[in-house]
Amino acid sequence: MKSAHVDPATCIGCGLCVQLCPKVFAMQDDGKSKAVNPKGDGDDDSQKCIQGAIDACPVTAISWME
Ligand code: SF4
Repeated sequence: MKSAHVDPATCIGCGLCVQLCPKVFAMQDDGKSKAVNPKGDGDDDSQKCIQGAIDACPVTAISWME
């Protein structure tokens, strides 16, 4: 099962991934998102949700880590 990763240097803190996938992403004190639970529930729905966030992120800050 793959994990989500946010590049904090690229994230602009728009909050979209947190809205789309609140089980996976959370905003941090520095105003950037972090994959606090990078596999979500570890099921297909979580993987789809993460892929949606990857596709929606305006600055391509989210990627998969094997
Ligand atoms: S969608 Fe992208 S830019 Fe927006 S908070 Fe998430 S990682 Fe950061």
